Amino acid sequence: MLKLEQVNAYYGRVQALRDISLEVSEGEIVAVIGPNGAGKSTLMNTISGIVSARSGQITFAGVPIAGCRPEQIVRLGLSQVPERRQVFSTMSVADNLVLGAYHRYRHEHKETIAQDMDFVFEIFPRLKDRIKQMAGTLSGGEQQMLALGRAWMAKPKLLLMDEPSLGLAPLLVKEILRVSGELRNQGMTILLVEQNARAALDLADRAYVMESGEVVLAGSAEQLTADARVQTAYLGRKPVSN
Ligand code: ATP
Repeated sequence: MLKLEQVNAYYGRVQALRDISLEVSEGEIVAVIGPNGAGKSTLMNTISGIVSARSGQITFAGVPIAGCRPEQIVRLGLSQVPERRQVFSTMSVADNLVLGAYHRYRHEHKETIAQDMDFVFEIFPRLKDRIKQMAGTLSGGEQQMLALGRAWMAKPKLLLMDEPSLGLAPLLVKEILRVSGELRNQGMTILLVEQNARAALDLADRAYVMESGEVVLAGSAEQLTADARVQTAYLGRKPVSN
């Protein structure tokens, strides 16, 4: 569904992505883990067209998308939940969710979209209690829930989730990861960037480890969970000395 080949991206003269090659197949949850500053958000922003790749190929559902504008990429069925929760702060919770689904109104029944909104409220009852409240006055965690809800309302083929656990209480992180698994079962494909490596590897089918702009390890979630380097660097296990 998504393929990156030798993608390079820069901020001015600073190289943020180095020859990144990565694949996501339909129906998979793929995680990208790595330390702060590794280039994970840049990777997501390059896929969604916010940052432009200087070289390399990006293909989504067979269509080359490197160089496309973000709105063209969204229309192809690729949505991103941005890190640091961006919501339309002067609009209500309900309007934010409706906006997430705006491109669906032309082709789909209003009832189907209303059912999806019910689903969001079922997962996040706090949002239902605040349905008319202006999004900018929600707490940070509530804004994160709304940003996720809005992305789900778009019903993308591929959902890019950048640090969904950021700033959320552990119980809610668990819930979001559980729901992500459920969305996968409903046919959504997910590429997830997550600092919480343990949670990401528990959920994902496969994962990539990024360091200093490069992919340094890749494999199934089980392989990476069992990998000594991953255990020491990301899963908090003490190195074995001999
Ligand atoms: P974190 O986990 O801390 O969010 P990350 O892996 O997502 O980190 P990025 O945000 O992609 O890392 O940053 C990769 C590198 O690019 C960092 O060195 C960062 O300082 C730099 N960088 C990111 N955004 C910009 C920008 N707009 N202008 C200049 N440099 C940037």
